[in-house]
Amino acid sequence: MPIEKLTSSASSVAVHADLDSVLVSEFDIKKRIKKLGAEITALYGQEEITIVAVINGAILFTADLIRHIENPIRLDCIRISSYRNDTKSVGKPQVLGHLSLDLANRHVLLIDDILDTGKTLSMLVSMIQKMHPATVRTCVLLDKRGRREVEFEADLVGFQIPDKFVVGYGLDFAERYRNLPCIGVLKPHLQNPPEWA
Ligand code: 5GP
Ligand code: MG
Repeated sequence: MPIEKLTSSASSVAVHADLDSVLVSEFDIKKRIKKLGAEITALYGQEEITIVAVINGAILFTADLIRHIENPIRLDCIRISSYRNDTKSVGKPQVLGHLSLDLANRHVLLIDDILDTGKTLSMLVSMIQKMHPATVRTCVLLDKRGRREVEFEADLVGFQIPDKFVVGYGLDFAERYRNLPCIGVLKPHLQNPPEWA
């Protein structure tokens, strides 16, 4: 699939041919992540942080963000079973496997790609609180605030975005598009291709 360059933009933003629009450019993602890293460093002082990344979606965000955190960190990942049917939430998120790090008395920072209905992060925060951490905070790259089904706000947010299904920079549609450097909305005819069903 070809990558075309936008000629109208001052920065050279690469746009994937399957995208209808770009909501967050590669340049803006990099700039915001640098600031988030500085905010996290200031928030935790000298403390060690135990990062728990929700995979697969938060892989790219976590990898870039932790390079801008100056504190000592420990890193673990957690996988959630997909409770979505294509672009819609259908049921309850379930944890697959288990964490390998002990979280008792640790400063836990839970990282996810996007906060949508709030079900995933509220479930994970309750689960982690039972492990008696010193603190639990949450950080998401994207927040679709208008879509909440359970009351939940993240402590650190990269960008507020409108109620649109987005792909790129870790976010997928049927496991595709995670490798796009920007975040955008797919062209309408690609949002339900029969060969991927
Ligand atoms: P929540 O449990 O808050 O509804 O949703 C969290 C999870 O749903 C995210 O970790 C992500 O995997 C998925 N999700 C929610 N909105 C989107 C979206 O616009 N695009 C993609 N690719 N995944 C989304
Ligand atoms: Mg996810």
